[in-house]
Amino acid sequence: MIARALPLTRTRAVRGLFDYRLSDAQVGSVEVGSILRVRFGPRRALAVVAELAESSELAPDRLVEPDAVLAPPLPADLVELAGWMAREYCSTPARALQPMLPPGIATGMRSKRALVATLTAAGVAALNDNTHLTDGQRTAMEALSRHGPTVAARLGTPVLRRLEGRGLVSLSHAVQRRVPVAAPIGSSRTVPELTSEQTAALAPVLEALAAGRTGSFLLHGVTGSGKTEVYLRAVQETLRRGRTAIVLVPEIALTPQTLSRFQERFGDVVAVIHSGLGQGERYDEWRRLAGGEALVCVGPRSAVFAPLREIGLIIVDEEHESSYKHEGDPRYDARAVAEHRAAAHGAVLLHGSATPRPESASSLERLRLHRRVDGRPLPPVRILDMRGQHHPLHPVTRAALSDLKRDGGKAIVLLNRRGWSNFLSCRSCGRVWMCPNCEVALVLHRQGAFVACHHCGHRERVPERCGACGSVSVARHGAGTERIESELAQALGDRSFPVLRLDADAPGAGRGGVLRRFQEASSAVLVGTQMVAKGHDFPDVALGIVLDADQTLRFPDFRAEERTFALITQLAGRAGRGNAGRVLVQTLAPEARAIQLAARHDSDGFLAGELERRRLLGYPPFRTLVRIVCSAVDAADATAAAMALRAGLDPPQTAVLGPAPLFVLRGRARVQLVLKAGDRQGAIDAVGAAVDAFVGTRAARDVNVSVDVDPQ
Ligand code: ADP
Ligand code: ZN
Ligand code: ZN
Repeated sequence: MIARALPLTRTRAVRGLFDYRLSDAQVGSVEVGSILRVRFGPRRALAVVAELAESSELAPDRLVEPDAVLAPPLPADLVELAGWMAREYCSTPARALQPMLPPGIATGMRSKRALVATLTAAGVAALNDNTHLTDGQRTAMEALSRHGPTVAARLGTPVLRRLEGRGLVSLSHAVQRRVPVAAPIGSSRTVPELTSEQTAALAPVLEALAAGRTGSFLLHGVTGSGKTEVYLRAVQETLRRGRTAIVLVPEIALTPQTLSRFQERFGDVVAVIHSGLGQGERYDEWRRLAGGEALVCVGPRSAVFAPLREIGLIIVDEEHESSYKHEGDPRYDARAVAEHRAAAHGAVLLHGSATPRPESASSLERLRLHRRVDGRPLPPVRILDMRGQHHPLHPVTRAALSDLKRDGGKAIVLLNRRGWSNFLSCRSCGRVWMCPNCEVALVLHRQGAFVACHHCGHRERVPERCGACGSVSVARHGAGTERIESELAQALGDRSFPVLRLDADAPGAGRGGVLRRFQEASSAVLVGTQMVAKGHDFPDVALGIVLDADQTLRFPDFRAEERTFALITQLAGRAGRGNAGRVLVQTLAPEARAIQLAARHDSDGFLAGELERRRLLGYPPFRTLVRIVCSAVDAADATAAAMALRAGLDPPQTAVLGPAPLFVLRGRARVQLVLKAGDRQGAIDAVGAAVDAFVGTRAARDVNVSVDVDPQ
């Protein structure tokens, strides 16, 4: 028997399947998806079995046996999925398989085993008659009687050994599951009666599940309309029909409550996979899923590769979030992968959001939730014109914060910019402090007394004088979250009214702590970047404030409008869930469509207008964008590469824009081509062929080419 396998190498040059002869002992244990350890040239590599065959075209003396068959195998459908991803994102199957592999497979990780003590029948009897026991023995046995089998070390192994000698306790080695601890905030154990809107929204999903047919739905509901409850019911029905479910969330750390609601409802059959887990926990969770012990996987984008079989439902919560797009090779979009995987399993796909993407609104069957479960109206939103204002906070904003301090309550202040000031310049010669590796200004972080590049991470001490003219007069421009936090703390903060900050500068582990403090305080202000609008589990706030709301609009990106609309709407969703709340939006562009419509909570109006605009401009979903970026230390090499690629590209119904230079990043010049394609597959195939042809040439030696299909 021949196993045709894909070696897991990073090089683009390695293509196709490689044949290995299976020994008689291996034949029974190898299937499509099995992971082999093989000799590959002079090295050892892992390889994934893609096909089994009776014979090989290779001469028998060139066939070798795999060194080992590793357990457990990947579900077979993931092998097909990797092939699809490779084509769809101009990558290779080996690279696409990388995020699907069992955790710890390359390092030979194992389950954790421990000595576990169990009370024997004689032991149970001994606790109830006059058998002589020392105090220590009695304590240990009573603990076993109360809690059941327990890790011996926890009760004292020597005592247990003596009890084992008397036949009262048995000791054995057993696998110890490493349980990831989520951080549940609050808990709601009761299963609520669905509202009539929820019932209506759920009906088509249940129907598709009952019919066992695929269906793709978009649950479009305002924040607090009970979308999660709809997901829970859909999962319940899926499990009842003997199938499994995947629930994708943007980031576990910001949505711990979503996870804990699934755990509360379904218990141990819920597994969680995310980067915050230890290797051991990830190993155990993965195997619980692969082994059929866990039937629901909750996690961020990579959870779309959960090794589940018989998938009946894939949910994508907060489907508008850009974190679903992976920024390394392959540049996959978990939403598109979810769609493909759902189709392969005959499963139902359910996206949900308060601010869905125009792409989803136009292609999925829309289910609406118009009202909040608690019946409260959405908060009024007031737009504050910042033109002519010099203080970073509008007088109305300052007054609202003072009122809040007096009356009590919580506020969230959203400013999508980290640090203290945007950039520094010399007051005498005008020089701006720039990153030495990138063509961007350095941002001042006063807390750490450094300036930093937000693109490459470069840091240096806060300059005391200008390197060009020697002047000691340095001007600071603009305000970031640090500065707003400091200003608010000075003006308003005290022990009863703490000012907290949440952004990417807060270490991942500290974010949970900040959230909890904000949750537990009776009055507080939370200042932060877009994270504060995304966290699903914020308590009710009385006041939501967006600073520099048009900042995201100034991005040269066709999704700028969509992002701005989503950000304001999401923040507004945090306000006034319980109490009456209100929202203030500071902007230099008070007339902007995205801001006006967000202030009116008009997401239907926004989607309709946005789709029309995209149709006119030839953007997704009407056309497919493909971005090719050539980067090199020498700008001439990058440009030459882009020109060469462009010359080899003539896909059908496609406009090729560029080459256009991008700013230098990490010391590399970058030049991009953008394709606006009417024929998606034609364009992807053409780009794949052009890149493959190019990477073999001499001109490609010092150039890195990256392809991004559906760039964010
Ligand atoms: P969304 O995901 O749309 O923002 P959630 O699912 O978080 O909304 O629901 C908001 C709140 O309403 C939650 O506390 C949830 O437990 C509660 N809830 C949801 N559905 C119902 C219902 N049918 N009856 C009572 N409470 C509900
Ligand atoms: Zn100067
Ligand atoms: Zn930099």
